[in-house]
Amino acid sequence: MARQDKNNTDELEILKFNNLAHKWWDNTSEFKPLHDINPLRVDFIKSKVDLKGKRVLDIGCGGGILTEAIAREGAEVTGIDQGERVIKIAKLHSLESQLDIDYQQINIENFIKKNKHKFDVITCLEMLEHVPDPASVIKACSQILKPDGKLFLSTINRNPKSFLFAIIGAEYILKLLPKGTHTYEKFITPSELRDYCNQSNLKFNDLIGMTYNPIFKTYRLEKDTSVNYLVEACFN
Ligand code: SAH
Repeated sequence: MARQDKNNTDELEILKFNNLAHKWWDNTSEFKPLHDINPLRVDFIKSKVDLKGKRVLDIGCGGGILTEAIAREGAEVTGIDQGERVIKIAKLHSLESQLDIDYQQINIENFIKKNKHKFDVITCLEMLEHVPDPASVIKACSQILKPDGKLFLSTINRNPKSFLFAIIGAEYILKLLPKGTHTYEKFITPSELRDYCNQSNLKFNDLIGMTYNPIFKTYRLEKDTSVNYLVEACFN
């Protein structure tokens, strides 16, 4: 069962992101991969739900790459993250972008204690592999998602290929990400993620892979979920 303590947070992970926060919006920096995959993620979400006028919660929002894109679709967005500097950068950038986004420095377990309004859409992308107890995050999401709401998740699969591609390839050979960005043991298989969702009465509606072509330096969505993958989940 999911553990629901108040601090489902790995402080070293938060430090890692805080230390790089000033580079978040530099699309040639360590955050280039997030900038590059963003249009794909947004298109995936938009193919499932019309975001206009929807209440959206973005968990582990970082500097707001996805959060801002969702706000631009006309949604009313709240972005939460545990990183203090990360949230400051997100707030500053949304001012520059003239977007009205409610950014808060908090984790989801504490957010649900003080926020009683439910959301039409919850996104939690590239974050679950950085928390001690991902099932606790999913459980909290289920408590704050409307009965007909949609939950979007993305993370990294755990197998020899993902070790080779997501750690050795991305961090050591292609240097797309700083060394130590990811920890193999924290990767999550789709069946584990499905179990976490099922424990909270959420079902997978769609599961799709995201692959990187190192020659053309392009990302695309496809059936292969062996490394990065995206999920759409809902209650029925
Ligand atoms: N979701 C964003 C950023 C991913 S980077 C995107 O895909 O563009 C992972 C983010 O998760 C970092 O900003 C980090 O600070 C945040 N994070 C890690 N653990 C967290 C926790 N327990 N609660 C909230 N945010 C957390």
